[in-house]
Amino acid sequence: MLKGKTALVTGSTSGIGLGIAKCLARQGAHIVLNGFGDAEGPRAEVLAAGAHAGIRVAYHGADMSRAADIEDLMAFAAKEFGRVDILVNNAGIQHVSSIEDFPTERWDAIIAINLTSAFHTTRLALPAMKAANWGRIINVASVHGLVASAQKSAYVAAKHGIVGFTKVTALETATTGVTCNAICPGWVLTPLVQKQVDAKAAAVGVSGEEAKKILLGEKEPSMQFTTPEELGELAVFFCSAAANNVRGVAWNMDGGWVAQ
Ligand code: NAD
Repeated sequence: MLKGKTALVTGSTSGIGLGIAKCLARQGAHIVLNGFGDAEGPRAEVLAAGAHAGIRVAYHGADMSRAADIEDLMAFAAKEFGRVDILVNNAGIQHVSSIEDFPTERWDAIIAINLTSAFHTTRLALPAMKAANWGRIINVASVHGLVASAQKSAYVAAKHGIVGFTKVTALETATTGVTCNAICPGWVLTPLVQKQVDAKAAAVGVSGEEAKKILLGEKEPSMQFTTPEELGELAVFFCSAAANNVRGVAWNMDGGWVAQ
């Protein structure tokens, strides 16, 4: 379905971004990976997922908190593949603390990586998408773009911000073949959430398995984690022709979290 297209997925060396990259590769898209840590393992996984379609995978280690790095990443993607057809703004970090104790440098980093980076990638991707009259921008927001939790002020502010930014992008592209939508996951068991599981286990003095049940029980009626692959399939739907007129939605996949 996506043969010949190129997808750039930020923060795709791990977790949800890697899951989305694999699903898009399976549909035949070339992939630009980004993120910290080992890139060779993720590159091999994504190549294997798209092997039947003969896809190519490139990697750029831009720090998404830095505008100059992001400009370099977008120029790299254009040079490698001609243009970015599908942009998935996924890179994100978390910090859990009350407002009074929130380290100001963590606040700045969360706003930069979880929100401002999407402004930079989007402004740089839009001209080529509009010229081709086809593009897909998918912002990985969160249920925290729709509702709040205590102790997550920067994250909730950034995620509400990206849901708003998604709507503006959708409006500014509404008469074109470019669409922009957000995905709002509930709990997904990635390294980002494992840290919160470990912190809960230590705070309450229970096992990791018990801590997972506590976290799910607080928020998610299904008592199940959503998987990166399930989120990847939602991204594939947003890229399909059936989604040509899906514009500006914030689609939660959250086991019933925001239905309550
Ligand atoms: P993760 O920690 O597994 O992956 C985060 C990715 O972002 C990694 O590849 C990491 O290297 C990259 N990254 C972090 N800082 C970066 C930076 N400055 N520059 C470039 N890359 C950077 O986390 P995840 O759970 O897969 O989170 C991915 C996205 O999904 C985030 O935006 C997160 O807010 C969102 N999300 C996660 C959950 C969840 O339950 N895990 C729920 C809702 C939303």
